[in-house]
Amino acid sequence: MAQISLKDVRKSYGATEVIHGVSIDIDDGEFVVIVGPSGCGKSTLLRMVAGLEVITKGTISINGRVVNDIEPRARDIAMVFQNYALYPHMSVRENMAYGLKISGMAKSEIAARVARAAEMLELAPYLDRKPRALSGGQRQRVAMGRALVRDPAAFLLDEPLSNLDAKLRVQMRLQIKQLQRSVGTTSLYVTHDQVEAMTLADRLIVMHAGRAEQIDTPMAIYERPASAFVAGFIGSPAMNLVPVTVGEGGVVLPGGTVLPLPGLVLPASGSTLLFGVRPEHLEPHPAGADTDAPVLTLEVFAVETLGADAYAHCLFPGGSSHPDEGFVVRLPGNTEARQGDQIHVAVDMATVHLFDAQSGRRIDD
Ligand code: ADP
Repeated sequence: MAQISLKDVRKSYGATEVIHGVSIDIDDGEFVVIVGPSGCGKSTLLRMVAGLEVITKGTISINGRVVNDIEPRARDIAMVFQNYALYPHMSVRENMAYGLKISGMAKSEIAARVARAAEMLELAPYLDRKPRALSGGQRQRVAMGRALVRDPAAFLLDEPLSNLDAKLRVQMRLQIKQLQRSVGTTSLYVTHDQVEAMTLADRLIVMHAGRAEQIDTPMAIYERPASAFVAGFIGSPAMNLVPVTVGEGGVVLPGGTVLPLPGLVLPASGSTLLFGVRPEHLEPHPAGADTDAPVLTLEVFAVETLGADAYAHCLFPGGSSHPDEGFVVRLPGNTEARQGDQIHVAVDMATVHLFDAQSGRRIDD
């Protein structure tokens, strides 16, 4: 069991700072996911918690004890790597038992722990096999099993599912979540996949260029992203983000439609903002139907059909023809909308977002 605290943790390689001060208090039993694009510093942050990278500034504590200068093996954490790091010449049983054996644990206790982990991970039939005789998913489970048998204070997982195919990733994601719930071990998990992050996490750390842009529950981040970067990164398909100009009592969309935003303190008329709305918050609106919500007219330039849903890529009539200045709208999979059609969508104003065009920060906080 572990409570993990990061206080203004920084990392520099030579003169270049790559982690610019991350702070978080992780509760005992919590599942925290570090998510962000490649190169944003996720692995470096995790490796500092593990003790595999030196911390340049700040402190990391586990259960109140500062571990900055404590060796990885003395931190009572177990790490699961992307490549599993299994010993090829050892059987599954030996791979799982190895760490316990070198720590001097009694044979009977090792056997009991391996049997219990094998049962939880459905690995019992494979205990005598070598890793090469296992599927990718089974190898991944052995790597989990090796962490589990140690009964550590915390699990640290670095992209543990990224070598699996899409279907298996979904299965394993569920299994990891259930396993973590049942053992209740504090977990810190790195992924670049925002869907994986959303589904696994109690709380997310959304990283961008070495900073924690936002730390909150997945739903709080989805509903109220703190920056345009977070807004565009979390949620699938991505949030629509278009540049708008502040006008009288609202914002002017590309093509000239004014969206009223009463009750919001907007910057001076003529300023540019980024306006955000998710594809699922634009409601197709039959012509002539009654609504209190503002209705936009959009021109469809492509429709992607996925089965249950279809995504219409639209532009504002009279606006720019650049796809970045258009909207994606979620429609039913059997939609008859085609390229060149005009569609009408009602905007649920409770679900729109505004960001500063320069800093990217949310402006209605
Ligand atoms: P992520 O895990 O999000 O892909 P990393 O933590 O691996 O990102 O890397 C964060 C940044 O630190 C990147 O800009 C990367 O180039 C840099 N970096 C990582 N390791 C080293 C290193 N050993 N020396 C210099 N720069 C490094």
